Formats: sequence, C-alpha cells, structure tokens
Amino acid sequence: MVPTMGALHDGHVSLMDRARALGDHVVVSIFVNPLQFGDASDLAKYPSDLDGDLDICRRAGVDLVWAPSIDHMYPDGFATRVSVTGVSEPFEGRHRPGHFDGVATVVTKLFAVIRPDGAVFGAKDFQQVAVIKRLSADLGLPVGIDVAPTVRDHDGLALSSRNARLDPASRSRALAIPRSLTAVEKAWRSGVRHTDELETILAAELLGLDVDYASVVDPQTLSTRRDDHAPAVALVAATVGSVRLIDNTVLD
Ligand code: AMP
Repeated sequence: MVPTMGALHDGHVSLMDRARALGDHVVVSIFVNPLQFGDASDLAKYPSDLDGDLDICRRAGVDLVWAPSIDHMYPDGFATRVSVTGVSEPFEGRHRPGHFDGVATVVTKLFAVIRPDGAVFGAKDFQQVAVIKRLSADLGLPVGIDVAPTVRDHDGLALSSRNARLDPASRSRALAIPRSLTAVEKAWRSGVRHTDELETILAAELLGLDVDYASVVDPQTLSTRRDDHAPAVALVAATVGSVRLIDNTVLD
C-alpha cells in the first residue's frame, strides 16, 4: 500500500514502483486528511486532481486506488484519535500541533481497512516515518514499513505537491533548502561532526527564508546527539512565499 494525499508526482510514483517490486498487488490511497491540517486555509489550498492522479496510478501499474470521501472516513460520531508521544513532539509536532495525531489516526484506519502486508512511505517526511514506525511497533500492526528515498527535481528541490504553489521567484528562493542540505553533507564528508558547527553551516544557506527549524539531531530519537560520533539527520522546515516546505538529509 502507498498512502497519499493525491496531487501525485514522481516522488509518489517511486513509492508505487517500490511497492510493486515488494508485493503482488499495489493499493494507493488518495485522501486529503483534514485531521492532520491545523490550518483550515492550508487544507483549502491543498492541490487536487483526481483524474490526473488516476492516470498516473494506471501508468504505474497500480491495482486499486482507494479515494474515500471525508464522510466515509470520518462519519458522524467518529471519536477516535491515535496519538504517538515522544518522537512526534519536536519539530513538525511543535509547529503543527495535532498534525501527527491526524497522521497516526488516518494511517491506522487505512491499514485497518486495506489490511496491506506492507506500506511504503517517503524519506522526505523523515519525522512522519519515525512516528509511523513507532505506531506500528507499539500497536503490533502486522504491516511492514518500507521507506523510499526522496525524489528531487533537476535543480535539487524535493518534489512536493505543494511546489505547484511556488511562483518562479519563490521557487528559486526555495532552492536554498537543498543547498543547505548539500552544504551540510559536504561538511560531514570532510569530517565536521560537531552539531553546532553543522547547524551553523545549515543556517548560513537559509538566511533569507522564514525558517521554522534547521537542526541536526539523532536520527532515531530526533533529540540531541549523544556525541560527535553519533549519526545525524539534518531537518529543515521553512516557508517561502506562502508555501511551507520540509526537507532533510541523513548524515551517517
Ligand atoms: P503526501 O501525498 O505528501 O502525503 O505524500 C505521500 C507519500 O509520498 C509520503 O510517504 C511522502 O513521504 C511521500 N513523498 C512525498 N514527496 C516525496 C518525494 N519527493 N520523494 C519521495 N517520497 C515522497
């Protein structure tokens, strides 16, 4: 299974390809989940193109697309929330209160309805993967969690349904995000290991943007690294124009 919110792009297709390689049948869900949007205007502006999405799924050899309505997913009386503590709390959890409760609730429901053997998620949403792995382990969900690498445009910007809302000027400013990640990767390769130094390098590229966070943390716990030898992940969230973008790179 590949859970999505539609407005599909090549990043989603890479997840579908991976699912096809892993399983006999591939189900894609398309559902813009209102529970994970704190901001009603962000939800209202979220792009949608069901016909285009169905074409993409057909070409990718998807066996079944499930695109439920909001009423179908959350009928009157729906009162359950699934909440993961710990790894969901910093970063996106702090900047988008309730977001990961919405994600955990919808993923639990999607798994319960479709009952897939496995599900593929994108590394682009690094913290989301950590939350879903925690959810799956804690509840003993019988669904293998697979993670696919981030697909980027030719200029380095991570593909995202939200990129459609970037005008050309904002898009070129947004390139500071992949540039910051490349700079930190280069520093890591040249032997820089101090969290402070890595964060300074990350921040230097992001000066002109409205940054929510640009941090280097432990990839397992998303908290402070034990020491300079520990692996790391650089996490960035920034708003460009009116579009909020996230990206990351693992340093190991
Ligand atoms: P979304 O439709 O944004 O909820 O994303 C659905 C799935 O696609 C999630 O598992 C995302 O992490 C994944 N995804 C989104 N963008 C990319 C990308 N550029 N590369 C790889 N996976 C992605």
